Amino acid sequence: TETVSKNFIEIEIDKDLASGRFDHVQTRFPPEPNGYLHIGHAKSIILNNDIAKEYNGKFNLRFDDTNPTKEKEEFVNSIIEDVKWLGGEFEDRLFFASNYFEEMYEKAVMLIKKGKAFVCDLSADEIREYRGDFKTPGKESPYRNRSVEENLKLFEDMKNGLFEDGSHVLRAKIDMASPNINMRDPVIYRVARMTHHNTGDKWCIYPMYDFAHPIEDAIEGITHSLCTLEFEDHRPLYDWVVRECEYKNPPRQIEFAKLYLTNVVTGKRYIKKLVEDGIVDGWDDPRLVSIAALRRRGYTPEAIRNFVKLAGVSKADSSIESAMLEYCIREDLKLKKSRIMAVLDPIKLIIDNYPEGQSELCTMPNNLENPELGEREIEFGRELYIEREDFMEVPPKKYFRLFPGNEVRLMGAYFVTCTSVEKDENGEIIAVHATYDPETKSGSGFNARKVKGTIHWVNAKTALNVEMRLYENIVDEEKGKLDENGNLNLNPNSLTILKNCYVESCLKDAKAYDSFQFVRNGFFCVDAKDSRPDALVFNRIVSLKSSFKL
Ligand code: ATP
Ligand code: MG
Ligand code: MG
Repeated sequence: TETVSKNFIEIEIDKDLASGRFDHVQTRFPPEPNGYLHIGHAKSIILNNDIAKEYNGKFNLRFDDTNPTKEKEEFVNSIIEDVKWLGGEFEDRLFFASNYFEEMYEKAVMLIKKGKAFVCDLSADEIREYRGDFKTPGKESPYRNRSVEENLKLFEDMKNGLFEDGSHVLRAKIDMASPNINMRDPVIYRVARMTHHNTGDKWCIYPMYDFAHPIEDAIEGITHSLCTLEFEDHRPLYDWVVRECEYKNPPRQIEFAKLYLTNVVTGKRYIKKLVEDGIVDGWDDPRLVSIAALRRRGYTPEAIRNFVKLAGVSKADSSIESAMLEYCIREDLKLKKSRIMAVLDPIKLIIDNYPEGQSELCTMPNNLENPELGEREIEFGRELYIEREDFMEVPPKKYFRLFPGNEVRLMGAYFVTCTSVEKDENGEIIAVHATYDPETKSGSGFNARKVKGTIHWVNAKTALNVEMRLYENIVDEEKGKLDENGNLNLNPNSLTILKNCYVESCLKDAKAYDSFQFVRNGFFCVDAKDSRPDALVFNRIVSLKSSFKL
């Protein structure tokens, strides 16, 4: 295990433990179930999970499901799956903020009784207008000085459905002159007749995020409530709610910078449009960076974890190159996966001096850099497929692959010399002909002469006919993410579908998410949505080469 210096959050936690402010650590990941998780959420999951683990504390998964409009059961299930997949160890600590509605209501009543909250009849527009801005102080609501009795009665009426949606709100009574706008009598409850995925039609009033979130944290005994930077200005309100609601174990909010990737689309709005316009095949399209998409593409939790660690935790916003994510998956798979021969753009290679009907087995290491992966046998025969680009009739200088008269090594098999090329009436190449030298079998120790080129191949008789999907960034990287109208600059070549590709027959039982290195072509995985046992579909996870250097 490596020693890394502590991030600023760990340093704060160390201080809290040293000063006795806390004697243990409890964290949480609090998603709103209103969409799929993306790579940015992975940062929060891994950060919270790992901090709990590091300090022998606990980590909760809590759905912040206090705003029913956009929340769906479908998202709850996908989020649970993704958090588990990423290694979030919440075990049985799965919570729903909606289960705390009763306590939130009671705390609101408590605030009213303390004279710290009032029912306000101003409209949303009026409230905004009265609030002022950072230059203008706010103006007090004419309803601010209602009596406790009147407020209790009105709040109960709000709860009992006597008021129209939007007509009344409960507001915290704090300070309309505060330089922090969040403290200017923020709304803490609103009337909204919406069916909630958990509580159904039980409630027609719902708490606002800034009131609900600190209560959720306090109820669960969260010690360190880690959130993203945009909530920094909300911290005084967070602390106010915890204090005025008289929680004895005030959690501490600490903010960190969001994870952003250059030229990567994470916004729900954009992804929704891509799905609706049929540009991507759902939220798990392998070109997206939702966790589901990354999983389908063939990313591993280890690679994502490593990426998040490399990105680090900081207090300043910055963007990370998506090439770093690719670097992480390459590094993760490099030694773990078998290196298989697959031909993406096949032409036939016929070995004319190899006896018809004959075949033999060649033994190949599964991964030259990792002997632990063992060996496999490949059937060699008279008719093979090689990559179209591994043959040229008229080669340029320094082309060491197949051309008439040249000899190359067929990986794991024999030396072959190209003798001729066969074309159809349009001049298209149908087959390349060659002869092999029986003395040169790989592993035989033959070293009488050397060749400069080695090419991969598959056996035409036994290879599996498969589909390959190659991906590029969905965003045009030259133009940048957005055009002047705020629309995505789409890369027209983000998906290439190759039919009639061939892979070694050893992949016949490959299952969804299984991944391999296809020599010279990249890392690929079996697509979980469209692949069938008799018609395999592979996604290219990433190519082998990269300009990215750590
Ligand atoms: P989005 O709008 O992208 O879905 P969100 O903030 O609405 O993001 P939530 O469901 O509220 O999503 O997020 C759950 C947790 O994940 C929050 O604590 C939030 O701060 C954190 N989070 C969201 N996006 C990022 C990001 N890009 N980097 C790090 N943490 C993030
Ligand atoms: Mg969200
Ligand atoms: Mg949010």
